[in-house]
Order: sequence, then C-alpha cells, then structure tokens
Amino acid sequence: MEDWFFTEEQRMFRESLREYLQNHITPEKVVEMEEKREIPRSIHDAMADFELFCPLVSEEYGGAGFDLVTAGIVGEELARVDPTGSTCVYYLVPASWSRMIYLYGTEEAKQELLPKMTKGRMFCGIASTEADTGSDLGNMITTIKPIRNGYVVNGAKNYISGIREARNTDGGHVTLARQDLAAGVRGCTLFFLPLNSKGIEISLDREMGREGMSTGGFHIDNVEIPERYLIGEEKRGFYIIHEGYEAARGIIACVCAGAALKALENAVAYMKERKAFGQPLARYQGMQFPLAEHWSRMMMLRDWAYKALRIMDQEKQGKASRMESSQAIAMAKLWGPLWAFDAINFAMQVQGAYGYSLECTEQKALRAIRSFGWAEGTSEVMRLIIAREVLGGTSWKGY
Ligand SMILES: Cc1cc2nc3c(=O)[nH]c(=O)nc-3n(C[C@H](O)[C@H](O)[C@H](O)COP(=O)(O)OP(=O)(O)OC[C@H]3O[C@@H](n4cnc5c(N)ncnc54)[C@H](O)[C@@H]3O)c2cc1C
Repeated sequence: MEDWFFTEEQRMFRESLREYLQNHITPEKVVEMEEKREIPRSIHDAMADFELFCPLVSEEYGGAGFDLVTAGIVGEELARVDPTGSTCVYYLVPASWSRMIYLYGTEEAKQELLPKMTKGRMFCGIASTEADTGSDLGNMITTIKPIRNGYVVNGAKNYISGIREARNTDGGHVTLARQDLAAGVRGCTLFFLPLNSKGIEISLDREMGREGMSTGGFHIDNVEIPERYLIGEEKRGFYIIHEGYEAARGIIACVCAGAALKALENAVAYMKERKAFGQPLARYQGMQFPLAEHWSRMMMLRDWAYKALRIMDQEKQGKASRMESSQAIAMAKLWGPLWAFDAINFAMQVQGAYGYSLECTEQKALRAIRSFGWAEGTSEVMRLIIAREVLGGTSWKGY
C-alpha cells in the first residue's frame, strides 16, 4: 500500500533519496563522524550534490524549492541512515532558518546569503536561547538598538546548534533580541547575526549525542550589524520566529519516526534470529505486544507528522490558519520525541546486553532523539500550544 500523503513525485523522490543516502552515509561513515566529532567532508558533499542544503528556498536563490512535506521526507530518510542524528540536525536547522531569511529577509540579504546557504557553503542556525531563559523568550537579556545604517547588539546566547559549523563557513544565526525592553515578547526583533563578526566570542559544549554537530554559546559585545540583516519588521520578531520553529518541529517529528522505525526494524531482525528457552524471541507474546504498540504509534506519528507539514504548506496557500498549523505541528513535535524514545528504548532492550554497548545503533539513536524533548521548543511548550488552541476554539478542524 502506498503512503496516501505523498504525491507520485514525492514517492519517487523518497525512493531515490533512500538509495542515495544508503550509498553515501554508510555505517562506517557514521562511526567516522562520531570519532572525529564532525560531519565528514564526503557526507557534506553528498548532501550538497543531492541539493539537501536549505531546500525550502526557491530556485531563484539556488534552492531546490521543496514544499514542507518533501523537506520532512529528507529528515525521515537521514534518520534511517544516521542514528546519531547529526546529519538530521545539520540538515533541518539550516533548512528551517534559511527559509525565514527567504520569507522575511531583505532582498539584499537574500541575494548575498541564500546562494551560499543553499550550496552548503554557509551554515545558518537559530539563536534564541540564553543561559537564564529558553522557553520564556520575553525575559531574554540580549538587546538590539538601532544606530545609523544598522543596529548594535549586546548579550549572550547558549545551547546553540552549529557554532563551529557557522564559524568555519562565515555563516551565522537567525537571532532574537529585545529592542523595546518594556514590551516583553512584543518588543523583540529578529535578524541575521554573522558569527565571525567583531565582538563575538564563542564557546563549545559537550553533548550526550549528535556527535557530528557542535553545540555551544557566544557572547555578543557591541556587535554592529547592517540594516539589511533585519528579518521582518522591527519588534515583530517574536511573531514570525514561530514559523521557523514550526518548520523545524515538523521535520523533527519525521526524524523521530524515521529513527524509531529503523530501530524497530533492527529489533525485529534480532527477535527472529535470537533464541531463548528453545525458540526465537519473536515467538513470545511478551515481545510481540510491545512491538505491536510501538509500531502502531510510529505509524500514527508518521501519518500525523506529514499531515501537519501539509497543513503548514496549505497555510502558505491560504487554506489553513496560522493557529491550525501551529497546533497540528505541536501535536507531532510533542509525541514524536516521546514515542520514538520509548520505541528505541524497547529496541535496545530486545537486544540484551548488546543493546547497552557503544556499538549498538539503537543507543546512538536514543541519545539523539532525547535532544528533541527540548530543541526547537520543549514538550511542555508543545502542550501549552495545543491547549491554547483547543481552549481558544482555534484548533484544527479538518477532521
Ligand atoms: C541539543 C540541543 C540543541 C539546541 N539547539 C538550540 C539552537 O540551535 N538554538 C536555540 O536557540 N536553542 C537551542 N536549544 C535550546 C532549546 O531551545 C531550549 O532548551 C528550550 O527552548 C528550553 O529552554 P531552557 O533549556 O532554557 O529551559 P526552560 O525554558 O528554562 O525550561 C525548563 C523546564 O521547564 C519547563 N517549562 C518552562 N515553562 C513552562 C511552563 N509555563 N509550564 C510548564 N513547564 C514549563 C520546560 O519545558 C523545561 O522542561 C537546544 C537545546 C538542546 C538540548
């Protein structure tokens, strides 16, 4: 049976992408990525050749002009071949945030930045979180002040993905800062901050997974940025930043489905092979029942994740509202990391002591998927969004 939510073109794209990624992101390459703690050049080049960098940007600026459903397919397929999730993040963060420059950036910035980003020659991240505030964006300390022909920025950002990747490519982060200090989130402005600007000092963290990608923070000391790097209108940053989060959240849900289904497939192969008390593990109901539950959840997640991305695509065509798409995406991002974590944990358990060894693919996936309980908005924030729309009567009504 075909996936009802894909067009014929998307089905064909998925097939050729799956084969391509299996050939280029091999288990050996994944080990190399973990050991060197960076994305190998050959993987980067393979992603660039298949036009996987910033594909939501139109062809006019060098992108592949994907819709969000197709962007989700890439996340799912990368998760199947890279259990560390590093390439998934390397793909989905620039994809979601370059889209914001494409949708709301100035023409000058688009001409300057997007052709490099879409070729994988410039990394584009997101910097909203700070040491003392993540979910509560209205209390951030980073400020932006207009000056002649531009702005001056002061503050600090923490737990930011792609610090080294941005530094090495003269790239930067779509950044949120407070312009009107008295107005809370209503006074925030969004802009592009090149990480090699004078006045920026970076630091790197060690994370529990996603070894190929860097995470860290930076201090911003009187950094001047040109007017053309403004994204959207001044003091409207909080309202538009959610479009970036939502694209990322929808793709993350597809990543969760891809990682967990691959882990369950590995568990099935093991259960059929491994014998205990005279018969294969797969013969025991104690194995079959949890397998059936995790498999069903993943099938439902996958359906819903693509549906949510489709609602986001429809929103851009005026066929769904902002609130409907926010809620649909939040539902996928709430259950994706939670259900995938449980499914992968089960796949580890099935494999006995081997499940706990560093060689086991599933423990890599478990560590990667756990990050999505926070990154691009926590599970609790997803619950707040869903409840807000249900209580407010603006919930998705397309059922
Ligand atoms: C691997 C990784 C990569 C990341 N990459 C980036 C990045 O590239 N850019 C970036 O800007 N950020 C990034 N983050 C940060 C992430 O966005 C934040 O962790 C997240 O927004 C939560 O902020 P916080 O960590 O400050 O937690 P807090 O907001 O302080 O929350 C702490 C806990 O309280 C809960 N909570 C908060 N408010 C409420 C409430 N009203 N009701 C109930 N519970 C609540 C939260 O859900 C959380 O569990 C990354 C995080 C991780 C783990």
